[in-house]
Amino acid sequence: MADYIAAIDQGTTSTRCMVFDREGHEAGRHQLEHEQLLPHPGWVEHDPLEIWQRTGDVIKGALAAAKITAADVAAVGLTNQRETTVLWNKRTGRPYYNAIVWQDTRTDRIASALDADGRGDVIRRKAGIPPATYFAAGKAQWILDNVDGARADAEAGEVLFGTMDTWLLWNLTGGAGDGGRGGGVHVTDVTNASRTMLMDLETLDWDDELLSFFSIPRSMLPTIAASSPTSPYGQTKADGPFGAELPIAGILGDQQAAMVGQVCLDAGEAKNTYGTGNFLLLNTGEELVRSDSGLLSTVCYRFGDAKPVYALEGSIAVTGSAVQWLRDQLGIIGAAEESETLARSVPDNGGVYFVPAFSGLFAPYWRSDARGAIVGLSRFNTAGHLARAALEAICYQSRDVVEAMETDSGVHLDVLKVDGGITANELCMQLQADILGVEVSKPVVAETTALGAAYAAGLSTGFWSGTDELRAQWQEDKRWRPTWSDDDRAAGYATWKKAVDRTLDWVD
Ligand code: ADP
Repeated sequence: MADYIAAIDQGTTSTRCMVFDREGHEAGRHQLEHEQLLPHPGWVEHDPLEIWQRTGDVIKGALAAAKITAADVAAVGLTNQRETTVLWNKRTGRPYYNAIVWQDTRTDRIASALDADGRGDVIRRKAGIPPATYFAAGKAQWILDNVDGARADAEAGEVLFGTMDTWLLWNLTGGAGDGGRGGGVHVTDVTNASRTMLMDLETLDWDDELLSFFSIPRSMLPTIAASSPTSPYGQTKADGPFGAELPIAGILGDQQAAMVGQVCLDAGEAKNTYGTGNFLLLNTGEELVRSDSGLLSTVCYRFGDAKPVYALEGSIAVTGSAVQWLRDQLGIIGAAEESETLARSVPDNGGVYFVPAFSGLFAPYWRSDARGAIVGLSRFNTAGHLARAALEAICYQSRDVVEAMETDSGVHLDVLKVDGGITANELCMQLQADILGVEVSKPVVAETTALGAAYAAGLSTGFWSGTDELRAQWQEDKRWRPTWSDDDRAAGYATWKKAVDRTLDWVD
């Protein structure tokens, strides 16, 4: 009897495979980092072949860690860093270029040109997102325009586009058409497709007008399927990393997967994931809420042939990566978790505010012309204040997004569910409760992203009976309650806003 679901979580810094049992508990995992390629300021790339190789390794490692074989696995789910784009040749499987990562800002000109002549508003209306370097279409266009032969091959129908879900699915189900194995399945799910600027959020199909803005031939694009399909997208290859044929039956972009893993399945429920960046999503149910406050409208998930469920999203580019910056560029900490000890060496921020707008500001500002600033310094300040300001910046940026969500949706949050690497930082979570003035709640299973992908695959294949069974599995581990006075909270937030103002209009 197959009593487990395997979930592959292809993240920005690493790829992991996790095995879950019927109670949604972890049975084993394996995780490997991949290289961050930074060839020019603002450029961020990953090697897709390295990621595919790491994926194979973590699958084998996770099965070994759980002490199971592929025969014990009922289905496989996929979740991925969203927007990161790869173009490959459908016969050889060879990428035309490295994957261009969501953080990469090389398509700045493509994005601003769209806003200069009104096409940006068409994208906002149809795709629910503003033209920005963040999303996939500009990255695909850049590869077609800059890699020798890519456009000609694309016109000849030789090129496949994918976000990392699609790249892994294609490789797991067949890969290159060598030795009669045949090409793999070329599919993405609605949540990943909603991050391209190419999908109409209402029809859930690629839109010809949007494709024309980026000169992207439709033949390159994967079929858009449900996040938890009525029948599996495909089977893993027996000679692939699982060593057996298993149904791949769930795909969700990482943030939407975390929503499902946190069982934020009712309108009005929200979660914040703290990783390299932060991603706050609010479930808006079957209603597509359009934002006037700088948030994204996105597909939250689609289960089977039910109506899609939408979300409002606030994405913040730099949160955990500001902590990495303290470690790698400044060297004031040796490891990310030391940010907590260092920040606790001082009682408060000592007047220091740090706005880590390294690659512009995402939600709710969407200012690619912003650059980072540390303000309020006096001779008295120490590395402790800077560490504290970095943690506070994670929380203040989240508050900016919560304010925008409340404006757009009219929903007042009672509690914020949290997950991601930084939730291990107790001080940061306490600061979040203090800065927001709402309670912050963390589940027992912190790996909500992988869990969400497992849930999608398990729902599709009947491994779990339905969403009620999933809701019953969610358990709280810890809750943080606000301790600051309202006056302190208001004063701190006002100073933060002033600091943000200092970062704008920095580059032309
Ligand atoms: P991702 O899924 O985006 O790769 P993770 O959820 O693994 O990210 O979180 C990693 C990020 O969180 C890194 O940027 C790291 O600097 C930061 N981080 C991890 N642990 C802590 C901690 N205890 N305190 C502060 N930041 C942390």
